[in-house]
Amino acid sequence: MAEPLLAVDELSAGYGDFQALFGVSLSVARGEVLALVGANGAGKSTLLRAVTGLVPCARRMVTFKGEAIGGEAADRIARRGIAMVPEGRRLFRSLSVEENLVIGGEYGRKGNWDLASVYALFPILREKRRMPATALSGGQQQMAAIGRALMANPELLIFDEVSLGLAPIVIRDIYAALPAIIGTGVAAILVEQDVARALAFATRFACLQEGRVSLAGDPDGFSREQITAAYFGMERH
Ligand code: ATP
Repeated sequence: MAEPLLAVDELSAGYGDFQALFGVSLSVARGEVLALVGANGAGKSTLLRAVTGLVPCARRMVTFKGEAIGGEAADRIARRGIAMVPEGRRLFRSLSVEENLVIGGEYGRKGNWDLASVYALFPILREKRRMPATALSGGQQQMAAIGRALMANPELLIFDEVSLGLAPIVIRDIYAALPAIIGTGVAAILVEQDVARALAFATRFACLQEGRVSLAGDPDGFSREQITAAYFGMERH
């Protein structure tokens, strides 16, 4: 098998004395979309934070493009080509839409994405580019957050709760844009409350339960009941 883009190997991590992840292993190949699902508190955010350098872990526990990167500083990991669309968007409130996008490109990684291609993907952002980020609707803010992450020309793009708090019609628009992003060869990890939507879009999934992988594989290879059981912990597979 080809070397995965991202490999998480026996990852244990937490906050001080509190352990949130217990020996989690998973991998993401180039061009793949991994849906990471699990109930509140299962450890999804902690896993994302370990991969992006926001929660410490041992170096060998995270490998990106064949290099062990666990525990590296977040900006260093970003420069390597991992970008996150964070939960709650986290745009810079005092900056314009365009300034927010430009900040995403500050590491100067080369690739398909620049202001022109982001505006082509989300034309509303071009229209509103001079407005403060706070003037955007929730859905438009999510588009700006995705655009900002794309400006970094990542090889791995992590979406944390991309549809949280958005109206169904807006969620449809956002998901409609994802194939154009994945089509450029970017791999993605999708953390999503709407499990059915995430599984429909993903090529693979991993379900976390109380800090451990309870089920993983091809979404088509399991019944809805099996995945629900892995999610809520009614039984182990
Ligand atoms: P959610 O969907 O609610 O964000 P999650 O699957 O992302 O859930 P995590 O946020 O990773 O879960 O939380 C895993 C465990 O770590 C939980 O028990 C949580 O209470 C704990 N935890 C999360 N963040 C912190 C923190 N900053 N300090 C201490 N404990 C934390």
